[in-house]
Amino acid sequence: MKLLFERSRPGRGSVLLPPCDVPEVTYDAGLLRAEAPRLPEIAEVDLGRHYTELAKQTHGVNDGFYPLGSCTMKYNPRVNEEAAAQPGFTQLHPLQPVETVQGAMEVLATAEKLLCEITGMDGMSFQPAAGAHGEYTGLLLIRKYHQARGDSARTKIIVPDSAHGTNPASATMAGFQVVSVPSNDQGGVDLDALRQAVGPDTAGLMLTNPNTVGLFDPNILEITQIIHDAGGLCYYDGANLNAVMGHVRPGDMGFDCVHLNLHKTFSTPHGGGGPGSGPVGCKAFLEPFLPTPRAKEVNGAYAWQTPEQTMGQVRSFYGNFLVVVKALTYILTLGKQGIPEASAGAVLNANYLMKQLADEGYEMSYPGLCMHEFVMTLQGLAHETGATAMDIAKGLLDFGIHPPTMYFPLIVHEALMVEPTETESPETLDQAAQVFKTLLQAAKDDPDSLHTAPHRCPVGRPDEVTAARHPVLRYEFEA
Ligand SMILES: *Cc1c(COP(=O)(O)O)cnc(C)c1O
Repeated sequence: MKLLFERSRPGRGSVLLPPCDVPEVTYDAGLLRAEAPRLPEIAEVDLGRHYTELAKQTHGVNDGFYPLGSCTMKYNPRVNEEAAAQPGFTQLHPLQPVETVQGAMEVLATAEKLLCEITGMDGMSFQPAAGAHGEYTGLLLIRKYHQARGDSARTKIIVPDSAHGTNPASATMAGFQVVSVPSNDQGGVDLDALRQAVGPDTAGLMLTNPNTVGLFDPNILEITQIIHDAGGLCYYDGANLNAVMGHVRPGDMGFDCVHLNLHKTFSTPHGGGGPGSGPVGCKAFLEPFLPTPRAKEVNGAYAWQTPEQTMGQVRSFYGNFLVVVKALTYILTLGKQGIPEASAGAVLNANYLMKQLADEGYEMSYPGLCMHEFVMTLQGLAHETGATAMDIAKGLLDFGIHPPTMYFPLIVHEALMVEPTETESPETLDQAAQVFKTLLQAAKDDPDSLHTAPHRCPVGRPDEVTAARHPVLRYEFEA
């Protein structure tokens, strides 16, 4: 399709500026650019068509099934958008006097209270802009805690090998060394390896539960105890809370701090650039180190407060506030009953689809029940037919299904990681199972047809290495 620059014709446009209602000023000529910028000039109708064409080339939750494991691409109720679009929220300035933003501060304080109830934490900061940013902030909490006790020997963070890639990255960014512990046969943390890994240099552990293979670690209390006995703290990567919210709480599993991905579990559209929100919650003993400022109620009015030993700010102002409005709308809409129902639905849907795919002949990495997602390995199929996980994923695109997460987690070969989410109907899951069945048959009958899939999409197989290493991000004018 043509780019806006290529559609541009001199003199066309769709801008109608209102009459100037402020005094005109003259600039220092040195500040003016010599030539007008080469912005695209295009009529409104063509501009609209351009973006509609672009939108038709992408796949979103509104187009069809989107089982991208680990990402929780659930449907996001429109009422959230309506709440977040209220002018009373969108027209605020972050530096307005507190007496004029009491409602917004109440949103933050209420969301904090409810999310602390859901996670079993005592305090929360909404500053981090996404999950990975939350991890970084949580690790700074752990660092501050050890520093405040004068314990400078704790330099290591333990991360299981099934962890999301952001975990070791955040630990490194926060100044720690990463110690990887292997998984056991059941996909959980190997307890003996964990016991051997801890010591006086252990600052803490980062863990996702259920983990990235979709399994709840039954040894979780023992795991957190091992870390605490060694003097470390436990960090809960809450990206998979969609599987357990309203049923179990990280705070009760022995975790000291958590992050949540409001854009996953608490229904904000994400992918393609967010914005997200990765609030960090903690137990009371870590609250003094939280980022500043926090909205606190004092004598019936909200005020900004700075925790005594704060780590400072990890982002400007109060984080992505409108995402918090959406999350709060979602929580209040679902209520105490709906929150656990959403998780139960996510787990039911994942098991429903997993069973069908297993019956069709797809090999599951970990047999038995899963939580909100499951991982299959296509290694056997690849040996047998030459059709890889990539080929099946590309084949799905021809049927209007977004591929599952591919080649992750790294501990599973030829992995496809499927997360249907609770917002899909049985009909959609049945249809998806049919498509998977068709593709499995195609892999056996005519693997070459899959090697070149997709055949019905605007883009086939882009050169992913070049796209990642040498992305073309600027339009090059001819003259
Ligand atoms: C998505 C995810 C993250 C990172 O969250 P972002 O919001 O994408 O930064 C971390 N851990 C797990 C398990 C995840 O699924």
